[in-house]
Amino acid sequence: MKRVYNFSAGPSMLPLPVLEKAQQELPNYNDSGMSVMEMSHRSGLFTDIITQAEQLLRDLMNIPDNYKVIFMQGGASQQFAMVPMNLLTKSGKADFVNTGSWSKKAIKEAEKFGQVRVIASSEDENFTYIPKIDRSMIDPEADYVHITTNNTIEGTTFRDIPDTGDVPLVVDMSSNILSEQMDISKFGLIYAGAQKNIGPAGLTVVIIREDLIGQATETCPTMLDYKTHSESGSLHNTPPTFSIYMAKLVFEWLKELGGLKGMEEINQEKARILYEYIDESDFYLSPVKEDSRSIMNIPFVIPDRDLDGLFVRQAQARGLETLKGHRSVGGMRASIYNAMPLEGVQELINFMKEFRSEHK
Ligand code: PMP
Repeated sequence: MKRVYNFSAGPSMLPLPVLEKAQQELPNYNDSGMSVMEMSHRSGLFTDIITQAEQLLRDLMNIPDNYKVIFMQGGASQQFAMVPMNLLTKSGKADFVNTGSWSKKAIKEAEKFGQVRVIASSEDENFTYIPKIDRSMIDPEADYVHITTNNTIEGTTFRDIPDTGDVPLVVDMSSNILSEQMDISKFGLIYAGAQKNIGPAGLTVVIIREDLIGQATETCPTMLDYKTHSESGSLHNTPPTFSIYMAKLVFEWLKELGGLKGMEEINQEKARILYEYIDESDFYLSPVKEDSRSIMNIPFVIPDRDLDGLFVRQAQARGLETLKGHRSVGGMRASIYNAMPLEGVQELINFMKEFRSEHK
């Protein structure tokens, strides 16, 4: 069987044991005579799947009891609107940190619903660093502060989660959820599209502190109110059943690896060897400031931009897929989410060494 190392920013690799388990269970799930895709979302079998998926996620992330977990649709992009529709409802003011393309989209959407203030931005240096945030910068009256914990396109990450005091911190964790251990009590609301570290596209995970539920505007559509989904256990309407089942398999895989502690160690090692090689290569260059570097998305450039295309093509021929950088950054980007094994990163480095010796 041919499998490649896929460095796509998302949808991205899924662990092979997860795909194999899904394949094995596909036509006849648990002796039901049907696949998960074909069964009622109200059936006992699916109830078990969604209950287990939630419990596994709670265990993995150590989610406190006063937080609800919601499985829904619409992607992280829908959260850009849902968050303000539900939370920008008291003072009508929110503070945002602008660290890249996705932050900008979240800001633009929130501006439709209230007064948005950008309290810090790294746009002055092409989003190559994470600005320092301290409590004095935050409006104590703000309904929430919003950050993008990991910037998928620019390859930056908040190493330290800002202390926002009593103002709830809302985070877009799409590209680093489940990549390392985190203290969930620091956040008011976490949202993430599934298609990087959770499972297939179509599923969006929201983790929300209970006191933030039930604040939506009166005109908020039922489907966009967190209360609807939290009260119905994510079963107000038909949820993305197969994606939830796949997420459950991914969570089981993570648990077997030693949970987020084990995953974090592997992720740190993958990122460490790649950055180490980039930095010592005197050929490849990381555009990102060292203290802001992501361990999930690693952009790099080469001196002769005309060689980018050749690099990507030759890498692909070696089974190293989707290394082209985002058009706004250029160069290359290796997204090395949870399912990318260490060997995949080693293979990439081997190829980078060969490419360097031919073109240096
Ligand atoms: N935020 C971040 C940080 C992302 O990386 C992405 C997708 N790449 C999005 C939001 C948008 O997610 P979706 O496609 O699920 O709407």
